[in-house]
Amino acid sequence: MRIGVFGGTFDPPHVGHLLMATDAREALKLDRLIFIPAGAHPFKVETPPVASGQDRLEMVRLAVADDANYVVDDAEINRKGLSFTVDTLEQLSGRHPAAELFLLLGEDVLAGFEQWRNPARIRELATLAAVRRAGAGSVVEPIVPGVLTVSTRRVDVSSTEIRERRRAGKSIKGFVPESVERFIDVRGLYR
Ligand code: ATP
Repeated sequence: MRIGVFGGTFDPPHVGHLLMATDAREALKLDRLIFIPAGAHPFKVETPPVASGQDRLEMVRLAVADDANYVVDDAEINRKGLSFTVDTLEQLSGRHPAAELFLLLGEDVLAGFEQWRNPARIRELATLAAVRRAGAGSVVEPIVPGVLTVSTRRVDVSSTEIRERRRAGKSIKGFVPESVERFIDVRGLYR
């Protein structure tokens, strides 16, 4: 079984994340894609997420709810201390010993990969897949040896923009699934 691992802050999850997930799933022929909302991010200690871990977890669950190929994992949200990808992958590979794991990384994120905790072990546990926002989903030539490159369509949406729109009292219709929009409204998030 081919399992993709898609980590992010998801504060909130948006259509860019969902389209990237679909493109990556098709390009890498993934049987399953596991979304893992980050807990305490080692490189973002100064700028923690705005929404709580439980709210971000719930929003990701709502965003992927109707797709049986998607799973949401609460491992990082519920783990104490900082979230290190290597720990998450150790846990996943223990749980799915026969699976091949693919770690999806935005190209921006890939640049800092060697500064992560135990990059060598991460590469043993998973194949790295850099996601380039350049066009429809396909696996293209590697830019870094040993790293797959998946291209995804360009969707000019970020969680930062969504939070700013909410703060400014603007609509976020179409930026997030309706279920997520309702949740943000009901919980009064990002005001
Ligand atoms: P923020 O604006 O708060 O930094 P974000 O929108 O970049 O958030 P993250 O949760 O940090 O969202 O992103 C998780 C992953 O999703 C990252 O690997 C990032 O590259 C990818 N991603 C974010 N936005 C998009 C988008 N519009 N299209 C494709 N991939 C995206």
